[in-house]
Amino acid sequence: DDVADLTAFQSWIAGAAAELAAAADHLGELDRAIGDGDHGTNMARGFGRSAALAKEEDFASIDAYLKKVGMTLVSTVGGASGPLYGTFFLRFAGPMAATEDAGVHAFAQSLHAGVDGIVARGKAEVGDKTMYDALAPALEAFDDANAEGASLADCLRAAADAAAAGRDATEPLVARKGRASYLGERSAGHVDPGASSAAILLETAARTLG
Ligand code: ADP
Ligand code: MG
Ligand code: MG
Repeated sequence: DDVADLTAFQSWIAGAAAELAAAADHLGELDRAIGDGDHGTNMARGFGRSAALAKEEDFASIDAYLKKVGMTLVSTVGGASGPLYGTFFLRFAGPMAATEDAGVHAFAQSLHAGVDGIVARGKAEVGDKTMYDALAPALEAFDDANAEGASLADCLRAAADAAAAGRDATEPLVARKGRASYLGERSAGHVDPGASSAAILLETAARTLG
């Protein structure tokens, strides 16, 4: 079936934790260039704690699980990205209430709610050199594929590829949000760490959901 159940969402978070741990040094280097160097350890810690939840507790529903992931990210990631990714999962969980198997339409609603939450909280616009520069094109690619009747798996593949392209496109940009914005023009020439972690989350979603 072209749906994602609770187990699939737990695989997403477990996969993201593994990928972010493997990428922690790289994300740290990106953040050292234009920030304070902690993005890799922040993400590895927060998603590591979130992945452990599934072993510690039985969750009754997808939304109960994802809300707990969101709260865990808020309380363990820290920095700018913790509240933003935490908000993403808290809002993402909302449309999943009463959904046992998320199909492409439920997933689209959740993805919109999650990304809208990041924008509401961080006020980033496309081109500000943030995680939103990976997430905005991912959302658009997901919607385009969905409008053409693509499967959840194919929508997620399109979203992950667009997120990777959006990540790469942050390199020449001058940061206008977060710590990197303190560098002004000197922030150009470096890929944004948050856009990189967002691309990892979408890539993991494409491999574990749908
Ligand atoms: P901190 O900058 O507090 O050390 P992190 O290093 O964990 O936090 O996260 C930095 C990332 O957060 C940036 O690379 C950027 O993608 C993202 N970010 C910062 N501010 C915002 C914002 N206002 N909106 C969206 N994303 C943001
Ligand atoms: Mg940092
Ligand atoms: Mg920091």
